[in-house]
Amino acid sequence: MLINEVKEKLIAIVTKANYDDSKTERLVYSYDATPNFQSMPDAVVSPRNTEEVSQILKVCNQYKVPIVPRGSGTNLCAGTCPTEGGIVMLFKHMNKILEIDEENLTVTVQPGVITLDMIHAVEEKGLFYPPDPSSMKISTIGGNINENSGGLRGLKYGVTRDYVIALEVVLPNGDIIRTGGKLAKDVAGYDLTRLFVGSEGTLVVITEATLKLIPMPETKKTMLALYQDLSAAAKSVSAIIANKIIPTTLEFLDQPTLQVVEDFAKIGLPTDVKAVLLIEQDGPPEVVERDLTRIADICKQEQAVSIQIAASEAEAEALRTARRTALSAIARLKPTTILEDATVPRSEIANMVKAINEITDKYQLTICTFGHAGDGNLHPTCATDARNHEEMERVEKAFAEIFEHAIALGGTITGEHGVGAMKAPYLEWKLKEEGIAAMKAIKHGFDPNNIMNPGKVFAKDSKKRVVVTK
Ligand SMILES: Cc1cc2nc3c(=O)[nH]c(=O)nc-3n(C[C@H](O)[C@H](O)[C@H](O)COP(=O)(O)OP(=O)(O)OC[C@H]3O[C@@H](n4cnc5c(N)ncnc54)[C@H](O)[C@@H]3O)c2cc1C
Repeated sequence: MLINEVKEKLIAIVTKANYDDSKTERLVYSYDATPNFQSMPDAVVSPRNTEEVSQILKVCNQYKVPIVPRGSGTNLCAGTCPTEGGIVMLFKHMNKILEIDEENLTVTVQPGVITLDMIHAVEEKGLFYPPDPSSMKISTIGGNINENSGGLRGLKYGVTRDYVIALEVVLPNGDIIRTGGKLAKDVAGYDLTRLFVGSEGTLVVITEATLKLIPMPETKKTMLALYQDLSAAAKSVSAIIANKIIPTTLEFLDQPTLQVVEDFAKIGLPTDVKAVLLIEQDGPPEVVERDLTRIADICKQEQAVSIQIAASEAEAEALRTARRTALSAIARLKPTTILEDATVPRSEIANMVKAINEITDKYQLTICTFGHAGDGNLHPTCATDARNHEEMERVEKAFAEIFEHAIALGGTITGEHGVGAMKAPYLEWKLKEEGIAAMKAIKHGFDPNNIMNPGKVFAKDSKKRVVVTK
């Protein structure tokens, strides 16, 4: 529990109404979307503005109290589990869209804005914010920025990082700084904006963000390519890109995923094929037509057994929504769902899918695989039961091997979900000791007292590597 002096100071800043250390409230914020990392905070604090955030940070820095900034807690890396206690900071009052600037094509928001609300607001003005994480109905912009989240449109349009052009942040010592601006160009000093994107709440608290918008594409079309051979589907992904076509969306779903999604969404997805690619293109109508025809030809050359084009926008939206529900659908299978996001160069997608299937068989697990194949970003997702310790050991070994394979293929342990507490023990596999030391130096420079989301990104001990033959 916090000492009385700290509690009183925090209440003096945010008022009693915005400070809660009741057991119920602490329990609510003791976990996030990641299984197995539940841990109690000492209190939950909801500042109303940047000045209050600054004062809270000064107090916490003085008394060395950990701060866990939290959006909607949908991260999948235990990034908001208060593993070292301290306060959880909520942004429920800092949830306004401050400005949509149609001359500079920007939107300025507070961190607690829900992603989809912002997307709808800019779309009403004919503008487009492409990053669309599947959690966008509930995720916040603060969370998206801190995880550098991606989505179905990432292949053509990039991820959150590509749209953040200015930030207001509070440093652990309480200083308030602004980075970037409504600028197409800015090389004044180090690029702090980019550093803070994806920093998982471990460096600063983000209190405002200005995001780049682009004009809404004129039209879009959606199709499914069906395969009886997993590696043919994976090879189509590289073939489409190698033919110099960049679709908006190029998603992969294997048969087990198709089955659970269809059981859940009931929209007539094919469940008798081994894999499906969900492909979308947007832009001027003639370009969309031309690209979809060429993509269909490539898929057929790569042994697609059937191509289905969505007849209407409603049908296309149903397909997108079905894909976005993949995780929730799999979560219905068993009490615990562990989703990973090993990522490889696109040219290695076929090898990675093959490796995941072999590892699944080796450890006799239920793993469904789907993901942003065009980005080389796969989500092998294990339906399991945390109470079954013997199975959990097999799950852990399987995912360790999946990470190792991804790295051996030139990939990474996470493409969009972040490191948090969950993948911290594996980070050294990707960065090596020297890389970790460089990152720790940055962390120490900003946060010498280690109050910002401690226990995340950097593990106390690295996991021992198993030997994987490529
Ligand atoms: C069903 C489902 C589907 C998902 N689909 C996708 C997907 O398609 N793509 C994808 O990339 N991810 C996806 N995710 C993961 C997750 O939704 C994203 O990481 C999302 O960006 C998290 O947003 P949040 O508001 O829930 O943030 P939280 O989970 O609350 O926080 C995420 C991180 O940001 C930090 N943080 C939050 N706000 C601030 C702030 N103001 N200042 C400093 N640090 C802050 C937290 O400390 C934490 O480290 C999915 C998750 C679920 C459950």
